[in-house]
Amino acid sequence: MSNSIKPNTTGLIFAMREEQEGLQSFIQNKKVHHIAKRDFIQGELWGHPVVMVLSGIGKVAAASTTSLLIHHFQVNQLILSGVAGSTDPVLKVGDIVIGKELLQHDIDASPLFPRFEIPLTGKSRFFAQKDLLNEVQNATTRFIQSMKQHFSSAQLDEFQLQNVKLHTGLIASGDQFIHDSSVLNQLKQALPDLLAVEMEGAAIAQVCEEHDLAFVIIRTISDSANETAHIDFLSFVKNVAAPYSLGILKNYFENRIKS
Ligand code: SAH
Repeated sequence: MSNSIKPNTTGLIFAMREEQEGLQSFIQNKKVHHIAKRDFIQGELWGHPVVMVLSGIGKVAAASTTSLLIHHFQVNQLILSGVAGSTDPVLKVGDIVIGKELLQHDIDASPLFPRFEIPLTGKSRFFAQKDLLNEVQNATTRFIQSMKQHFSSAQLDEFQLQNVKLHTGLIASGDQFIHDSSVLNQLKQALPDLLAVEMEGAAIAQVCEEHDLAFVIIRTISDSANETAHIDFLSFVKNVAAPYSLGILKNYFENRIKS
């Protein structure tokens, strides 16, 4: 497979099917590889080589998928686009958060190692690469400015998307759908700069860091990680998060310099 791989390939990871579907129809010269119970869809998006895949939910699924993208497809950067729960009142449902730092909130080998530290690495936070982060931030800003082209005014009203903001900072991942204010508050106490929680980003970050690969995690806020978190979750993913992923990634690839 390696000889059919183009240099400069971007790996695109989605955790949920609804989010991948929108982009799938834009992929050119499509070729599907079935590996480890996943479909890796290879092709081009707006002139750039990509391999997109549904990782499944959780850290193990995300880490294993990342490793497959690196070893089978030699991707040279990775982007995950998905949804997350807000952990700060500043972030509203419909806002977008880009992970500048990623941490695994459920790793705790204390007292042997400090809470959140990956044992024997001395690391708890993984950092997105600056250039990729900037390019994706710019693409997201352009997308937000063009929201009216992507949503009807009825949709903007229904999902309260009139004043969408982009935030950049710390995202924490763990194998838990957080839907409980007390869990959320404890986490926020330990990590005051935490913006959002999800279930895959920091696993991808750890694998990318081991391979010196650039990654960026883009998340649409779907809920407030409290008791209301499950309400209309799937409708939000389908109607808001999926078009966001498409809009942001289209903006990113259309403005990316071709190699
Ligand atoms: N039961 C859901 C499963 C989704 S799990 C379903 O109906 O399909 C939640 C997914 O969204 C994960 O991939 C995770 O990364 C993200 N996510 C959104 N809100 C979250 C929250 N409050 N806590 C943890 N992950 C969240």
